[in-house]
Amino acid sequence: MKVGIVGSGFVGSTAAYALVMQGIGREIVMVDLNEARAAAEADDIFHAVPFAHPLTIRSGGYSDLSGSRVVIVAAGANQRPGESRRELLQRNAEVFGKVIPQVVEHAPDAVILIATNPVDIMTHLAGEFAQRCGVPLQRVLGSGTMLDTARFRTLLGQHFGVDARHVHAYVVGEHGDSEVLSWSLATIAGSALEEFGEQRGIELSDATRERIDERVRRAAYRIIEGKGATYYGIGSALARIVDSVLHDQRSVLTICSRIEGLDGLPDVTISMPHLISGDGVVAPVPLDLAADEFAALQESAKIIRSAIDSIELG
Ligand code: ADP
Repeated sequence: MKVGIVGSGFVGSTAAYALVMQGIGREIVMVDLNEARAAAEADDIFHAVPFAHPLTIRSGGYSDLSGSRVVIVAAGANQRPGESRRELLQRNAEVFGKVIPQVVEHAPDAVILIATNPVDIMTHLAGEFAQRCGVPLQRVLGSGTMLDTARFRTLLGQHFGVDARHVHAYVVGEHGDSEVLSWSLATIAGSALEEFGEQRGIELSDATRERIDERVRRAAYRIIEGKGATYYGIGSALARIVDSVLHDQRSVLTICSRIEGLDGLPDVTISMPHLISGDGVVAPVPLDLAADEFAALQESAKIIRSAIDSIELG
């Protein structure tokens, strides 16, 4: 089972490392504009193989992606001094205009998994370019709010003293400032949070909610302030998605995909819980959100849509 990675910077390489550490897939090929970087990262990670799982990992060109079941795209340009977010977005759209057709040419059957930020917008663009090459949209998805959801569940788990794997809660919408924490639907062992809290004598005050919301929404800012980039969390989330696809696990994950006409949202790429199979997205899972959460989700969708509309596609 072969996995390709285009963009062997911090995020792409950490994803490769997470795949090796967990023994996900059998062969990894790393591609980058900077060939020396891809070769060095592949070699470095290959040296971890004897301590982990018997995978092969090497660098290569686009033609080496042939036969990949999944191709992660973590390629992107960095913001130049004085460059606006919109200008950076335009440049990254141009990068994707070159990268995606080459991925499709050499790995026409692969699920394409986007990690480049802003991930919702970049996944939308990847979908456009892939569709032009004949790839169905179901095979294009982005890491979306996987991490935000994981943080939300972890913080709720901490507050209630429960393993986060038994806390069900989703972060939906943009992977960014306008994301929506679905408090109204969060459950632990089948009970709503308030009910579970009453049983256990644990209060969920407004101040606690605000603190958790802030720590989910602002997590990336804090990390970037402290170390300049985020990659361990996202690398692990990417490995989780790859595992689910390679093994056709039918997981429900808050990835982003292009959603047309769901729940009265505009045609936009946005994060929602999605059922994932070996072929990519089976379907988004509609949520019966509280009215204020739904209004916030619509607002979030509009923000993504207007950023997409600001880009000129070649
Ligand atoms: P991140 O922290 O998001 O991983 P990096 O700057 O570390 O950011 O990595 C982005 C990687 O994308 C770099 O290694 C860069 O060389 C690569 N890259 C940029 N443009 C392209 C392209 N057109 N094709 C392939 N790789 C690219």
